[in-house]
Amino acid sequence: MTTTTTATGEDALFQALRAFVGQEATPVRHAQDPVNRPMIRHFVEAMDDENPVYLDPEAAAATGRDGIVAPPAMLSTWLMVGYRAHRAARSGPPADTAMARMLAILDEAGFTGVVATNDEQTYHRELREGDQLSMRTVIVEISPRKQTGLGPGYFITTARTYFDQHEEVVAEQRFRILRFSPAASRPVAEPSPADPSPADPAQRPKPLVTRDNEFWFAAARQRRLVIQACDACGRLRHPPSPACPHCRSFDWHEVTASGRGSVHSFVVGHHPKAPGFDYPLTVVLVDLEEGTRLVADFAGEPAEVHIGMPVEIDWLAYDDELTLPRVRARREEV
Ligand SMILES: [Zn+2]
Repeated sequence: MTTTTTATGEDALFQALRAFVGQEATPVRHAQDPVNRPMIRHFVEAMDDENPVYLDPEAAAATGRDGIVAPPAMLSTWLMVGYRAHRAARSGPPADTAMARMLAILDEAGFTGVVATNDEQTYHRELREGDQLSMRTVIVEISPRKQTGLGPGYFITTARTYFDQHEEVVAEQRFRILRFSPAASRPVAEPSPADPSPADPAQRPKPLVTRDNEFWFAAARQRRLVIQACDACGRLRHPPSPACPHCRSFDWHEVTASGRGSVHSFVVGHHPKAPGFDYPLTVVLVDLEEGTRLVADFAGEPAEVHIGMPVEIDWLAYDDELTLPRVRARREEV
């Protein structure tokens, strides 16, 4: 690995952090259990993944595999330390690892907030029953201090290498977090608590728009609520995804929803308060008439909402780029 030296000299904290690049973040971790069918079963049931190659040896054999395989997305679960170790780690003294030392420096400097920002996984081969995995984690990149919507912070990237009992690398992962200073993120001209002026929606965190969901946000800008429909089996799905979860077709078209539905569930948030939102903040899960569900803010008083309540879309433009559906109590049809 090469570490380039750049002229960002004034940030002494960055210099201290950069010394950790290239170090092993934590000792090599070994999976508590080999890859096994009961854990695969729990995972695919929780994820509602019906691909038979994960549980049915005959179906796996019909696709040329030697036996069932684990879903690739289970990768990190095999290396989880488990509840007891997690609890012990929290109550005991901090571990003497490079990662712990680096995070302690950040904590002391006030960079106590953490959010995961990127997770890229590369799979070299499928995992089979009996594979005994281990994981090596190296700190590979630390950004200079960046100003972000959450406050100033540092992006920390670790590279995880997953290998089996024969030292064969089966997968790699690049995992990035942002460590930020929440105290410094508050706007200078924050209204006092006595001033209940409505929050500026332009301050809201922006949704992550990707190639897979940009059509949905483009339609929303035109105040159209659309749903992805599979070309092959016709089923509808939301939120947007590249492949049909039922038949795995990549071909789809969009249909325009009526914008009517009923409240399946809801939650009223009081604390903590994020910038750009008005509190109490009522968020509803709507059963749309078309059969898919939608999460949206509720435009109205929290006390109005009840499960089963008929609702309809009420669009709100946050800025030129972002228009999102909210819902309101459905008005009587004439
Ligand atoms: Zn389909």
